[in-house]
Amino acid sequence: MPPSAPPSTDVLDGRIALVTGGGTGIGLSIVERFLASGARVAFFSHDEAKVEAAQRRLSAWGSDRVYGATADVTDLDQVERVFERVRQAWGAVDVLVNNAGISPKRKDAQPWTLTITLAEWYRVLDVNLSGCFLCIRTAVPAMIERRYGRIINISSLAGRTIPKIAGPHYAASKAGLAGLTRALAGDLGGHGITVNCVAPGRIFTEMTGTPDSEANSLALTRIPVGRLGEPADIAAVVMFLASAAAGFVNGATIDVNGGEFAA
Ligand code: NAD
Repeated sequence: MPPSAPPSTDVLDGRIALVTGGGTGIGLSIVERFLASGARVAFFSHDEAKVEAAQRRLSAWGSDRVYGATADVTDLDQVERVFERVRQAWGAVDVLVNNAGISPKRKDAQPWTLTITLAEWYRVLDVNLSGCFLCIRTAVPAMIERRYGRIINISSLAGRTIPKIAGPHYAASKAGLAGLTRALAGDLGGHGITVNCVAPGRIFTEMTGTPDSEANSLALTRIPVGRLGEPADIAAVVMFLASAAAGFVNGATIDVNGGEFAA
């Protein structure tokens, strides 16, 4: 008898995925990659206009395959409402991608330590780290029940090394995500759930501005492959981690940065 085919890294047929912050940039690319791989995909963002724009762009897939909602990742009620809506329409979420994030820009040449307001500090930690935990808490009971789940957290190069551009609050939140990933990989692995992290380097999106900005030109000089990343570069790795083939990858943080940093 011929050996059975290995599980594909590019198939999510019948799976239900939810991508936070999925209306723009990296998140939108992940949504599109998952749709092309056969999944039903829900996404949400706190920005209604961005959700509507993404829905228009994705409308050809039809409402049975894609669903966009407006919700703030820091508000547990709103998060639970999105998950409940998805459960009623399609069923429980199999694949959760925690992608929503904010990265406040530097205000002046002073040390960040002096210029970050406490409100900004807490907001960045709330969106980038606690929001991720709220979504995981909401997704996990049904994953445990069905003994299957894939959780992928979008961290950052800024959380892996001394950040060149991002602030300490952003770096702390993204380093925290890698720690949370490892802890939950141990906590949930025995329940059929894997938890992994992807740490993008400089990716060309709204968050990083125009390609020829000073920060992007400088970043380019540090990237061995000689280009900035594209959202699709991140979506490809997230796709692998979301697939059945990645069942033995758990607790990892995968650097996707063109060689700018390697641990
Ligand atoms: P982006 O600004 O296009 O995407 C961020 C998304 O998160 C947006 O859709 C935004 O509406 C959503 N969001 C923000 N606050 C939210 C909230 N409170 N509730 C719900 N949604 C919220 O930027 P991007 O570059 O696509 O970033 C996606 C992720 O990748 C972020 O976590 C970011 O930190 C990370 N990242 C990006 C880069 C890069 O170079 N672009 C590098 C490293 C990591």
